[in-house]
Amino acid sequence: MKELEEKILEEGIVIGPNILKVDSFLNQQIDCKLIQQMGKEFAEYFKDKNIDKVLTVESSGIAPALATALELGVKCVFARKQQSLTTGDNVYHSSVYSFTKQVTNELIVSKNFIKEDENVLMIDDFLANGQAAKGMVALVRQAGANPVGFGIVIEKSFSDGRSVIENEMGLEVYSLARIAKLEDGKITFVEE
Ligand code: 5GP
Repeated sequence: MKELEEKILEEGIVIGPNILKVDSFLNQQIDCKLIQQMGKEFAEYFKDKNIDKVLTVESSGIAPALATALELGVKCVFARKQQSLTTGDNVYHSSVYSFTKQVTNELIVSKNFIKEDENVLMIDDFLANGQAAKGMVALVRQAGANPVGFGIVIEKSFSDGRSVIENEMGLEVYSLARIAKLEDGKITFVEE
């Protein structure tokens, strides 16, 4: 998605080894118009898959997932990373190790919101090693629902995530921006 690549080049900051900061339009401040366009792109790509629900992980996946669900005319569900007072015990959960934050998070979602046989599209802000993706698929499978595929805003194509989704899980992944390299403060996209 050209507008997204331009925004990443304008406002993205490479921090630490292989980490991209996009707080100014995706991870803290949200560029609503750009997010709306992302939703349209994902919805167009997955429109023939009979999506019943869009699933993401709090917090940064919520904006693009909401925009996609709005376009598809379905509900958007986000997995929590912490049990809340209102969540109760009627939940599916899985564990996700984050290489970026070096912590293991639980993903928790109420059994009321993913149902057997639903076709679930999963959306996330970044794809790196595919751990969050695995966690989401585990939740969908526990519910007896069908994981349809992934819509990713920014794929770090130098990491294993795509291979984990395509080869280990046999699912489709559609990324709006694919980064080949993050080196010396410079961002290079995959040539399509
Ligand atoms: P994975 O589970 O695929 O290894 O990593 C994906 C998750 O880690 C995303 O949900 C995202 O929150 C976070 N993440 C991974 N790489 C980056 C990055 O370069 N920048 C930011 N802001 N988040 C990242």
